[in-house]
Parts: sequence; structure tokens; C-alpha cells
Amino acid sequence: MKKYCMITFGCQMNVHDSEKMAGLLKSEGYSETEDPKDADIVIFNTCSIRQKAEQKFFSQLGRTKAIKKRKPGLKIAVAGCIAQQEGSSILQRTPYVDYVIGPQNICAIKDIVRSDSAVIATDDNPNVADIELPADRKDTVRAWINIMYGCNNFCSYCIVPYTRGREKSRPAISILDEIKELADKGFKEITLLGQNVNSYKSDMNFPALLGEINRIGGIERIRFVTSHPKDLSNELIYAIRDLEKVCEHVHLPLQSGSTRILALMNRKYAYADYVKTVGKLCKEIPGIAITSDIIAGFPYETDEDHKTTINAIKEIGFDGIFAFKFSPRPGTKASEMTDQLDEGIKTERLYEILEVQNKITEDKNRMLEGRVQEVLIEGISENDSKKFSGRTRTNKIVNIPSTKSLRAGDIVKVKVTRALRHSLEGKPV
Ligand code: SF4
Repeated sequence: MKKYCMITFGCQMNVHDSEKMAGLLKSEGYSETEDPKDADIVIFNTCSIRQKAEQKFFSQLGRTKAIKKRKPGLKIAVAGCIAQQEGSSILQRTPYVDYVIGPQNICAIKDIVRSDSAVIATDDNPNVADIELPADRKDTVRAWINIMYGCNNFCSYCIVPYTRGREKSRPAISILDEIKELADKGFKEITLLGQNVNSYKSDMNFPALLGEINRIGGIERIRFVTSHPKDLSNELIYAIRDLEKVCEHVHLPLQSGSTRILALMNRKYAYADYVKTVGKLCKEIPGIAITSDIIAGFPYETDEDHKTTINAIKEIGFDGIFAFKFSPRPGTKASEMTDQLDEGIKTERLYEILEVQNKITEDKNRMLEGRVQEVLIEGISENDSKKFSGRTRTNKIVNIPSTKSLRAGDIVKVKVTRALRHSLEGKPV
């Protein structure tokens, strides 16, 4: 039996693409190994959103070259965003790579791995949203489901519209069938994936799709990522409020508190619009958790702009953020902007942002001490094998002592006994 080794970088979308490639390879008779030395094919599913992820990939790829030297039959595939962006130049730079597979062409992996000669599959695939692919999911409680592909927004720093193409929504019927199948297999929570799920549009819009999923028996929780602030409609806010399975958590990337910088980022909203949307969410859905993404040190960002972002973080009081230093990606408008900031300034600003947010997150978590939360048990805690780990509806991690009667997939009421910065501790009540 042939073996594949899948090495995945980047976002949840990539993780799910890897699940689909794994599903296709398993249907072709392959089995999985985590050791590249033991594999017949090593697949790198790459991410180009930041320079760091790209560097990490190229250094791992270099190590695979040494394995191939000792095992010449080994095939190496580069999939994902770097594959799409670099295309044939990957083969020039690293001639030991056999296959280059863009995100829109993973459906062809079975044919590609049969080829004895090099393959570059990076063409635009107009049918990407209509092709059903079997996913080999590792989790048994939570499942990720693509509802749309690509992005039309062209934020000036982002490579995604160039690597994943324009938005294409998957037909609602195929999404609903997949979720019904997952419910039959015992999955309890689904997360709908798209670069901008709010602009999902097939024969129904996104709030209507949530309504249909809410009716599927067996599924207890519905989540979705990512939402673009400009497209978060009142209808969606009411859907989150009214549909009992839709969790009270929205990930809403702000990126900057400065409207001037938001315009340079081509985000298509002002800070005031963002605050208005958050105000509506909090009014309609009391207790909702809001998390966000922030970029530190975008080109032209002044100290004043940075302070505005710090004030925005304090004013909104996010439950958590992902903050990163601006990383110029070749091919994007922001990478060509003349006023690129010094790495030192970007680092300083990032640390300040994280420091401010850490305090807010700790305070917010502490407010939950003594309160009872509904927790979906996901499995044994990664840090302590004597504990189970799960999440609240607001997406906070809770660790609880394991008992014989508990199992992954159970939903239990838990009293929070201790709040830490990134997780909660509790006991079932
Ligand atoms: S919305 Fe902006 S940041 Fe998000 S994927 Fe699209 S272009 Fe990139």
C-alpha cells in the first residue's frame, strides 16, 4: 500500500483542503504516514499569507530534498497558495518537486499523483464550487465545511484573491447533504468556511442557509468564519440571535482602528461603521463574543494611527485577537507602497497591541468565574491527559477533570472555577 505524508500550513481553509486531498488519496488506496521518510508522496499544503509561513515551508521542503536523494522514487507535491502564486517557478527553484497544485485544482490530485512527469495544475477552475470531494476528517465531533471559494475584496495586503480566485458559492443542496451525512456520523458542531461567508449567494443567501442548517437533527452547534464587516447585515445579526444552534461568537477582522489606514487597506468601511456593527451585535445578542484580526505596522501607519488602533481595541473590548506584523506579499498593492515601516517599529507596535489585548482577554475571562457555561466536549486536553477539553458557545476553551461518564461530543453544563489568559478551568454541575 502506498503512503502519503501531508504537511499543512496556514488557515482552516487549508486544513480542510488537506482533509479533502487525504480523502481522495485514501479512495485511491493510499494510507497516511506522519513520517516523510516513510512516504511515497509528500504533499505540502502551503500558505503565503505571511512571509514567515512561506520561509517555514521552504526550509521543510529543503529537508525533503535530502530524503528524496536517498529514496529517488519519492514524489513531492506543493499545493495551496504558494503553488498557485509561484506556479512553474517552483520547479525552477526546487527541481526535485514533482507536482504543483493550486487550491482550485486539488480535485485532480488522484490523476496528478499517477503521472510520471512533472505536473503544474494552477488553472482557474470555474467548477470548483460544484465538485463534491470526500474529506478524510480527523475530528469526530467538529467538522469544517466549505461553503464558498475565493474572494472579491482585494484588500491591498492580501494575496488570497490572486491565489484562490473570485468568489464562487457552493450550491446549498450540496452543503446541506454533506451536513446531514456528518450528523448521521455523529458530528455535533459544524463550522462553515469561506473567505467572506457573509457574501455567500447561491439559491439562497447566508442567513437563509443558516436557517436550513439549523433544522438538521443531530447538529447542535453552527459556527462560521470569516465575516467581512462591510457585509455583516442586520438579517445575519437576527439569524445569529434567533437560530438556537448558531453560536454567539463572530470573528470580525478589524485590521486597524484608523479609518485612514483602513482606506489604504481597501477594507471598504470606516472605523465608525465597524463600531456601529459591533454595537448592533451586542445589543441584539447579549453576551456575544467578538474576536478580530489586527495588522501592526501597515505602510504609512503613523504613531497616531497606531494609538487609534490601541484605543479601538480598548473601546471594543474584543474577547481575543490574532495580531501580526504587516508582511508585504509580492503581487499585492500594499507591497508596492513606498512608505514601508521599519521591522523594529512593527515589532514594538505588535507587542503593545498584544499587551493591551491580553489584559482585556484576561479580564473578560475572569468575569466568567463562578458562572455556568454550556460546553461541548471535544476530547482529551492537549496539555493534561487527565482533563477533557471543550468549548463554550462563545468559543472559549474550557478544561475539566475527566470522568468515566464523559465522552467527546457530550454537551455539559460547566461551572467556571478559574480563568486563565487563553483558557478556562471548570467542573461539571
Ligand atoms: S476579505 Fe480581504 S483579507 Fe479576507 S481574503 Fe478577501 S482580500 Fe483577503
